[in-house]
Amino acid sequence: MSKQVIVVGSGIIGASIAYQLAKSGAEVTVLEKSSPASGASSKSFGWINAKAAETKSYYRLRRNAIYAYLELCENLNMDTAVKWDGSLWWENEGQELMDQASIMDDYGYEAKVIDAAQFTELEPNVANPPEECIFGRIEGAADGAEMVRLLLIEASKNGANVIAGCEVLDFLRDGDQIIGVETNLGAMHADNVVVATGAWSQDVLERAGVNLPMDNKTGVIVHTLPVAPVINHLIMSPDIHFRQDKSGRIILGEIFSGGGLNEATSESPVDFAQKMLERLKNRLPAITDLTVDRIMVGKRPVPLDGFPAVGVANGLSGLYMAVMHSGITLAPLIGQLVSQEIIEGQLSDLLIDFRPARFG
Ligand SMILES: Cc1cc2nc3c(=O)[nH]c(=O)nc-3n(C[C@H](O)[C@H](O)[C@H](O)COP(=O)(O)OP(=O)(O)OC[C@H]3O[C@@H](n4cnc5c(N)ncnc54)[C@H](O)[C@@H]3O)c2cc1C
Repeated sequence: MSKQVIVVGSGIIGASIAYQLAKSGAEVTVLEKSSPASGASSKSFGWINAKAAETKSYYRLRRNAIYAYLELCENLNMDTAVKWDGSLWWENEGQELMDQASIMDDYGYEAKVIDAAQFTELEPNVANPPEECIFGRIEGAADGAEMVRLLLIEASKNGANVIAGCEVLDFLRDGDQIIGVETNLGAMHADNVVVATGAWSQDVLERAGVNLPMDNKTGVIVHTLPVAPVINHLIMSPDIHFRQDKSGRIILGEIFSGGGLNEATSESPVDFAQKMLERLKNRLPAITDLTVDRIMVGKRPVPLDGFPAVGVANGLSGLYMAVMHSGITLAPLIGQLVSQEIIEGQLSDLLIDFRPARFG
């Protein structure tokens, strides 16, 4: 008999897990309190990369995630969601950039340092080329909302049901076994419940008595109105990140290392977006018609130590969690691994350092 699995949350992580589980024969129900992709997944910069990995095992997870993306793009038509442009990254400069390049080299990552002349050949419209930057040629970008849409269509084709407007309020248990959920629409039973509720996960898991400390980070993404093709790669400069999507919109992301929206001083997102646009205009002086279309403020889901939390909740069988930042990069791989672990009981080595048990 096929396993019944409830997936809570329909961001990119829940959608990818639902797709893989349904494809493997599970009876899947996705419960979403709002609408699919209404959380961080639609407010993401969408950079697919293995660069920003602080440890070897996290690098291994992220590098394998890029393989999983390529495999997903071979099996399904993801053309409207994914673009493999490569990235040009110089958020740090000088010795720091060289040190980062040497770590990537040790890991065997497909990235290399290029100089200003090579940069200008790749990006003739970007002003002030850096003396050196790291060219990550295997990297790309995904539109999180479109990924969710496509993955949920495939999940549904494989028999999954997606219920929007259904909020999980509590968990049903039989001793140490989770056997379902209590929702605003009533109780629902399952063999396994997967919590993929992004930045809400600490609160959701608390209802089952499970501890997942989180330090979520607010982030701002700005979309411009479409312009003619002007850049060819993801550009990760020291003061602004930007890329152009298939429709011509330029997607702007604030830099990771400080300079974000200052909630403490109640900085207006509109003022902040204008600041981001000014930085973009300095980088693209030839483009005179750059106009802000949308400002999106999202919450990055971040377990307290910064690494993913994926696996069975400590002390409870039947309850599984998949909570992480860099979920746009990791989703296709996490979907595969979680499905294998739940359906086949086959534990993945790739997840060894990312088990929720580390939080006790
Ligand atoms: C500004 C910004 C930039 C980012 N840039 C990148 C990047 O460049 N590269 C990258 O890889 N990652 C990036 N990320 C991170 C990435 O977007 C997230 O890791 C990813 O989207 C998380 O997906 P998720 O499915 O876990 O969560 P979400 O997309 O937030 O989905 C969680 C869902 O759970 C639902 N939910 C919550 N509680 C309940 C409940 N009780 N019952 C039912 N449903 C519930 C919510 O409504 C929501 O739809 C960025 C994030 C932000 C905010």
